[in-house]
Amino acid sequence: MQTMWIGGEDVAASGGATIEVENPATEERIDDVPRGTGADVDRAVQSSARSFERWWRLPGLDRAELLHRVAANLRASTESLARMMTLEGGKPLLENRDEVEWCAGCFDYYAEIGRHERGRVIAPVREHQFNFVVKEPYGVVAAIVPWNYPLLLLCWKLAPALAAGNTVVVKPSELTPLSTLMLRGVLDVLPEGVVNLVTGYGNEAGEALVSHPDVDVVAFTGSVATGRRIAMRAAESLKKVHLELGGNDPFIVCDDVDVSIAAKGAAFATFLNMGQVCTSAERFYVFENVYEAFVEQLVDNARALRIGDPMGPDIDLGPMVSAAQRDKTEKKVAAAEGAGAKLATGGRRPERPTAGYFYEPTVLTDVSPTMELFTEETFGPIAPVMPVKDIDEACRLANQSRYGLGASIYTNNLEYAMTAASNIRAGTFWVNDPLTDNDAGPFGGMRLSGNARELGAEGLEGFRETKHIHLDYKVRAMPDWYPYKWKV
Ligand code: NAD
Repeated sequence: MQTMWIGGEDVAASGGATIEVENPATEERIDDVPRGTGADVDRAVQSSARSFERWWRLPGLDRAELLHRVAANLRASTESLARMMTLEGGKPLLENRDEVEWCAGCFDYYAEIGRHERGRVIAPVREHQFNFVVKEPYGVVAAIVPWNYPLLLLCWKLAPALAAGNTVVVKPSELTPLSTLMLRGVLDVLPEGVVNLVTGYGNEAGEALVSHPDVDVVAFTGSVATGRRIAMRAAESLKKVHLELGGNDPFIVCDDVDVSIAAKGAAFATFLNMGQVCTSAERFYVFENVYEAFVEQLVDNARALRIGDPMGPDIDLGPMVSAAQRDKTEKKVAAAEGAGAKLATGGRRPERPTAGYFYEPTVLTDVSPTMELFTEETFGPIAPVMPVKDIDEACRLANQSRYGLGASIYTNNLEYAMTAASNIRAGTFWVNDPLTDNDAGPFGGMRLSGNARELGAEGLEGFRETKHIHLDYKVRAMPDWYPYKWKV
């Protein structure tokens, strides 16, 4: 039985209730975590509020030093954190080792840019004056995150929020809380209460955080439905809300590239982590003269993927995160087939392993842009592929979506690449390089995919308030004060 981490102490839920955490590869219980209540959330928020003043007054160099120590601790705990993420989330161990390294890199990055500047000096309107634009932290940030990249998506909030001088209360997904709770051993170099870890359900601990009067910012990653609910809740107190939501990313393949490379890139972009990536490629638009060759090669790539125990060395794909997530995927494939789509491969549970929420990577043809697969987020290993006449049709269809997280194209043709990059509404656009992130560049969505940006200078900015300080170093009466000198 695990405990939460509040004010540097290990604590159970005030009501004593727990939530069972399951291994999706075996369907066995791994452990229990506290089912946090409003009272637990209040305790965590009070702890973060108490530690705020001390944390933000810390000189930038000292704060940077501590954030680098967090990065070092993450690296030193790579194996245990990665194993726990694999146990509770089902993502292959190899990918989770990478995830821990990306977390550490993110802390190192924000340790440095957080101490680089705190605003700017602008030109004054009068002699003897200085005007400063000063950046300050908001106060207490609530970081509410999903299960698919439980530590990375948390660190994309935690590192910049702390670097900006905020304190943070973290609530992980109820499906993957164990790796987050292990962070107490990584974060204990920070002053007590600067980070608090609470576990629980979204509609209990999550909502208590969103509506808590002493939480200044809610930084959320998750589904559109939850994001909408959080935004409505937070509107009551006019809290600042960062929303990083779902996606339904298009992937265009033009006829001037090596189709075998494009198919490999496509398989990675659509099947990675069983399609449970917010920027998974979910809609494929392929120039008609290479369509058949592309489908054939994507099918070959899908069939070659090795499914199995995510701890094992010789696999590419583990299970989906939960029975519910696999059920949703099965229903989506059945609905598409009912509407006329044809299975080119997959569309079923593999014969082995017999336990666990496994599903075969799936390619669908004979699809149409009105099918739900094209209009809603899929979040499963499904690749619907349709032919297009030219780049204009590809861009038009790519934009036929209410989402705008990412988009990809395979081409060497500069005109195709730039036409798509400048016309498609998406927060990230990849040319021949699907799904790569860069700490120094912003990540986030347009339209329903969100209203914020993580990473880069933008990621830090999201956690800083702006103050304008006017300073006059010569105390004197100003000529435009009373009594007025009328000009006639
Ligand atoms: P979810 O919205 O169900 O849950 C996300 C988190 O919100 C969990 O911690 C959950 O407990 C909490 N939550 C749920 N209801 C809440 C409420 N009423 N108030 C406060 N908190 C609440 O999402 P999920 O199923 O965990 O994750 C999958 C979704 O996340 C997909 O839509 C995916 O696209 C999205 N996602 C987006 C990004 C991005 O960066 N844009 C990254 C990864 C995942």
